[in-house]
Amino acid sequence: MSLLEVSLLDRLDPALASHIRRIEHFKQSLTLLTWDSRTGAPSKGLVQGARVRSTIKHELFLLQRDPEFGRLLHALSEKTSEDPLVSRIAAYHLRSFQLANSIPIKEFQAFANEQSQTSVVLAEAKKTSNFALVKPYLERVFDYHRKFSAYWGYQDHPYDAQIKQFDPDVDTATLDQVFSELKSGLLPLIQRISRASKQPDRSIFAREFPYEQQRELATRLIQVIGYDFDAGKFGETLHPFSSAISPGDARVATIYKRDVRVSALLALHEAGHSIYTQNIHPQLVDTGLGIFTSYGIHESQSIFWEKFIGRHRGFWEQNYGLAQSLFPEAFAGVKLDDFFFALNEVRPSLIRYEADDLTYNLHIIIRYELEKALLEGSISVDELPERWNDKYEEYLGIRPANDREGVLQDGHWISGFGHFATYSLGFIFAGQLHGQLVKDKPDFDRLVAEGRNDVILDWLRSHVHQYGSSKSEYELLRDITGGEIDTRPLLSYLTRKYEDLYELQPSSQPAINGE
Ligand code: ZN
Repeated sequence: MSLLEVSLLDRLDPALASHIRRIEHFKQSLTLLTWDSRTGAPSKGLVQGARVRSTIKHELFLLQRDPEFGRLLHALSEKTSEDPLVSRIAAYHLRSFQLANSIPIKEFQAFANEQSQTSVVLAEAKKTSNFALVKPYLERVFDYHRKFSAYWGYQDHPYDAQIKQFDPDVDTATLDQVFSELKSGLLPLIQRISRASKQPDRSIFAREFPYEQQRELATRLIQVIGYDFDAGKFGETLHPFSSAISPGDARVATIYKRDVRVSALLALHEAGHSIYTQNIHPQLVDTGLGIFTSYGIHESQSIFWEKFIGRHRGFWEQNYGLAQSLFPEAFAGVKLDDFFFALNEVRPSLIRYEADDLTYNLHIIIRYELEKALLEGSISVDELPERWNDKYEEYLGIRPANDREGVLQDGHWISGFGHFATYSLGFIFAGQLHGQLVKDKPDFDRLVAEGRNDVILDWLRSHVHQYGSSKSEYELLRDITGGEIDTRPLLSYLTRKYEDLYELQPSSQPAINGE
């Protein structure tokens, strides 16, 4: 599919083009207002801001389900079979049209209200570690998820309807399969590491890292990987996120933690999301296709820069000098090898977004198993905190002392089930992209060590970014790797990297050797 020189909207019926442009501008306004609300909007304006966003959301919903819009889309989709990009625009908006029409307006509004109330109560429950406070709200929100699964429709499992909101090419059977492969690849590796005699010096990152210098480090690092500061903004927030407004405005909001490791990797992660948006072909703007194609692919881009570059030894050959100059006391006398080993320490922990490479997927698997069970009705909201803690004990060998560091830590379940799974999908896809990139550029490690991130970004731009959502997740993967989702490149990469780092005897497990 080639990208065209003229605006794609110009090729549509003017009434349809104008309707699509309105939809896209409403979406972009919402993203912009959400950025503002989360990065320093005045506290006295927050409630009014939420009301404004809710009005825009409602107007957007009405635009998406408009009957005349549906008629024009059907007419277009019937006559444009030889124009793949225009067909894709029609298919993209037809799907939103059908989804928006599958939910009665009243229920959509009631759900939106329930969501905003639940967010407020959850924040309070988290502060006081009081699950009982938010329990009735979660019960109502989860009832909506069950109902919406039925409205959206599914073939095999109600979870299919949920995951397809985030990753339309993926279903429950695929997730069951890939998560079982990740478990059998990762659990034994984590155990071997916990018994290894060589362990990193944990004191390195327990030292003092002043926030002002952390901000400087994060700014320099995201510049190094190619984040364009003229096409975005770099701000701060409580829960890091990226805002995909358009290629000319892709923002990053991060947080600085006590441990500079977490802060640096979070900034690289969110910048990776925004670098994807910045490199989408401008001709796709306002068509609906000018955005990430799926949450899994979006996450693959953040994870690629965070884990495959930001945790690469070569990256720190380039940047450790900078870190040492910013934190001369903390890193005095710390050799690059010791810094690098401590940066990649594997250690089970309770908070998902602070987890290391290997235990990260287990945090996701725990959430996936619980949300699937909630949707099926095989566990109740009442049992949730206990089940959560049991699973942490089973998979990670640690048990949260309270619900704040347990089940109350994330807010994702308010918007829907399936969001967490996209994090592991992204890790798996990033593993596949990395596997292919190393084949295409056998000097990959040298490129990273020489700071040639531009060569790597060019590869990602031409294989992934530019297409926006004009190619689906599996179309991208097929075009790049010749196959679909595959956990082997990731497991093989992680096994090799961590066996080497912890000086373990190489494993002979067949599941993780066949890349
Ligand atoms: Zn992310």
